[in-house]
Amino acid sequence: MGASQSSRDSSGGPSVSAEGAEFKSVSDTEWKEKLTDEQFYVTRQKGTERAFSGKYWNTKTAGIYECICCGTPLFNSITKFDSGTGWPSYYEVIGNNVKSESDWSIPFMPRTEVKCSKCDAHLGHVFDDGPPPTGKRYCINSASLNLKPSG
Ligand SMILES: [Zn+2]
Repeated sequence: MGASQSSRDSSGGPSVSAEGAEFKSVSDTEWKEKLTDEQFYVTRQKGTERAFSGKYWNTKTAGIYECICCGTPLFNSITKFDSGTGWPSYYEVIGNNVKSESDWSIPFMPRTEVKCSKCDAHLGHVFDDGPPPTGKRYCINSASLNLKPSG
């Protein structure tokens, strides 16, 4: 039973290629199985958790914050700072793992949404009032992150 995956070729095989494309084809039903209700609401429905309610807003643990959906490393704890907003805030992202898009969901208040570049998970927003050296403030929902402590 169960051997429905019939493409058992010699080498290579059905390589799980182009990870990005793979994650982008995951359906909402599948995400719901993988995520908690709040994680699903935030990452797949662009929700926002309540300030000071998330898991990481006040966390000082050293480590790497990964995407809760696909595990891509997004933020390093050394770039986390206390923004006073009640959401985890960072001044820099890891590599090109975060992408930004214009967000006009609030009329007359243009914002820049940030998403995981691999799986399109909604993470939060980026603002231009952050600390040096970047001047950026990535305001992120705890629900979209998973902290992997270092050491
Ligand atoms: Zn992701």
